[in-house]
Amino acid sequence: MFNRKQIRCSFCHKAEEEVQKIIWGPDNVFICDECVKTCQGIIEKGEMEKFEEQREKELPTPKEIFAELDRYVVGQDRTKKRLSVAVYNHYKRVFLSEKFREYTPSKSNILLIGPTGCGKTLFAQILAKILNVPLALTDATPLTEAGYVGEDVENILLRLLQVSGFDLKLAEKGIIYIDEVDKIAKTTQNVSITRDVSGEGVQQALLTILEGKMANVPPAGGRKHPQQEFIQMNTQHILFICGGAFVGLDGIIQRRLTKNPIGFATEVKVRSRSKQDDILSEVIPEDLIKFGFIPEFVGRLPVLSTLHPLKEDHLVRILTEPKDAMLKQYEYFFKLEGVELEVEPKAVNAIAKKAMELKTGARGLKAIIEEMMMDVMFELPSLTDVKKVLVTEETVADASKFVIESKAQKATA
Ligand code: ADP
Repeated sequence: MFNRKQIRCSFCHKAEEEVQKIIWGPDNVFICDECVKTCQGIIEKGEMEKFEEQREKELPTPKEIFAELDRYVVGQDRTKKRLSVAVYNHYKRVFLSEKFREYTPSKSNILLIGPTGCGKTLFAQILAKILNVPLALTDATPLTEAGYVGEDVENILLRLLQVSGFDLKLAEKGIIYIDEVDKIAKTTQNVSITRDVSGEGVQQALLTILEGKMANVPPAGGRKHPQQEFIQMNTQHILFICGGAFVGLDGIIQRRLTKNPIGFATEVKVRSRSKQDDILSEVIPEDLIKFGFIPEFVGRLPVLSTLHPLKEDHLVRILTEPKDAMLKQYEYFFKLEGVELEVEPKAVNAIAKKAMELKTGARGLKAIIEEMMMDVMFELPSLTDVKKVLVTEETVADASKFVIESKAQKATA
């Protein structure tokens, strides 16, 4: 039998009274609670590394990312390509073991410039899905510099933590989409007196998280206060995608290009008559500084991509082509009720036309379709014997004008 005084941890040699607990194993081997904790840490770290290695192996190539984006996003091919490469490079680096990271290019956050409803948020959503990482959708408009009425930038990080179920490690590899980032530019129109006067303070505050530093996140949100406990979050591997319409930026680019003395001016004039939309694709970081961003902020968003406004034919394709196209969703829903739904091509065109009038890109489509389907969706569950519902151009103008084909009708036809 052992003398209790002889009991010491076989790993750290601490005596029983120096630790809280000692576990006795076969052949008189002992381990103290402190060493158990250390071992657990080693095991978890190993598991994490294995997991990361696996993720690195499974990381889709830029071509695969492009192909997957292509299944959901209509047009915007230039942005698709740029994002495929940027996101691949980013996650290659994230999943790479620590020792190789220093040799790889540093994190490249992304800035997407394009009008409302052209797919900026959609890109972030699909990318997060492809990479199987958490995504927080946030907005720059309520952000303010500390001390002003509004939200601290750390609340953006809190959002990511929330969607990650407060799994810090998972959140630290996620994507944050910040919409309406153009609203924090130093332009006079956008400034509110409750925010800082110039907008520059918010940019400075955002910089700290874009730069990849450790951040103190208040777990309950709201404004930070000194007595509060914080969650320490490492933002080094979080991919930030910022988006905005940047109204007026085209003018800044146009002015720069027309000033250029080396024959550029004529080229711009010719293009501006036929393809004014594409002027945004000429954007360079200096234009963003003129727009009202501080150079450090622009420097932290090195992947710059512009999205073109959607035309009517794009909207037609959005309604029918993507894997989860809105009309496909309705067709599927009707199928669950045992009914076939047919939306005539002319009706699809009419929906697209109506959405173009709203000038909100593809955003208006959903509301138009919901309005158009309202009457039929109201009636359908109470009807029996329905084989098919036909939506025509007339239904788009007046929801009560849909056509129903009954099973009996079909049988006699
Ligand atoms: P924004 O550019 O303002 O962020 P969103 O990405 O939120 O616009 O677009 C709103 C909705 O419109 C999306 O959820 C999607 O259904 C549709 N949409 C917008 N652009 C496209 C696109 N290029 N391809 C397919 N669907 C799109």
